[in-house]
Amino acid sequence: MTHIPGIVITGASGRMGQMLIKTVTDSDQARLVGVVERSGHDWIGQDVGVAMGGAALGVTVTDDPLEAFAQAQAVIDFTAPEATLEFAALAAQARCVHVIGTTGMSDEQIAALEPASRHAVIVRAGNMSLGVNLLVQLTKKVAAALDEDFDIEVIEGHHHHKVDAPSGTALMLGEAAAEGRGIDLAEVSDRGRDGITGARKRGDIGFHAIRGGDIVGEHDVLFAAPGERIVLRHLATDRAIFARGALKAALWGQGKSPGQYDMVDVLGL
Ligand code: NAD
Repeated sequence: MTHIPGIVITGASGRMGQMLIKTVTDSDQARLVGVVERSGHDWIGQDVGVAMGGAALGVTVTDDPLEAFAQAQAVIDFTAPEATLEFAALAAQARCVHVIGTTGMSDEQIAALEPASRHAVIVRAGNMSLGVNLLVQLTKKVAAALDEDFDIEVIEGHHHHKVDAPSGTALMLGEAAAEGRGIDLAEVSDRGRDGITGARKRGDIGFHAIRGGDIVGEHDVLFAAPGERIVLRHLATDRAIFARGALKAALWGQGKSPGQYDMVDVLGL
């Protein structure tokens, strides 16, 4: 019989946490073995099917990550940057594959994942959907094919609870465009993190963020020149696409050598 990996979901009460619980529970390729929420969160009993159903399902419901990770082969983590850093060290200790969907991590925080990745597989992506990862590849190709007459602008929209701006996906797209155009990636991501910017000089890349209502995630990459425009667009209408991608990453990571990977590796794009 093939081994069915045990999965722990962190941030279990969150928008993505709830979607992940459903996705993993519905899958016949993985077992949900634990859910983690931060202590002090008034979640026990609040989320139907998580805290109350947890015991019945044989799922560990805890605010102690290591207790849960010790029983698992993979941790799927859509929380917050500081929490993700703590989970990376503990997941490595438990030799779990750590799938990181958390966005808004600084360059220092990303660099701090390195020690954990010497002992365990980390798959991190600002967007886990197949469609967006394809869009990233297309963006790189189109940017490489066009000259600097085309301004490149990344325009994104999300629900009004989203903490970071521009989105992790917008940064992925900006970095892909920069790579295609042959300009400095670090400069693009720093500019993005510093705030929302319109491109100021020819050949530069601008970021624009819209926050409103319940938008799940919308991304346009606009290539605009005098007389013509190309728009590459991805619209997410259901968070299930991110959860399915994260589960795929958790399964893909089983038996891989320790190191840092992304969804391009997982999807073989
Ligand atoms: P959310 O605020 O609804 O959920 C986050 C949850 O994490 C909350 O329940 C919070 O209590 C919990 N949490 C925070 N610190 C914790 C800790 N120390 N221990 C345990 N739990 C902790 O947010 P969300 O909309 O679910 O998004 C979560 C993250 O995932 C964000 O960074 C978001 O940008 C990102 N995201 C990524 C993708 C992707 O495909 N990579 C897709 C959607 C969202």
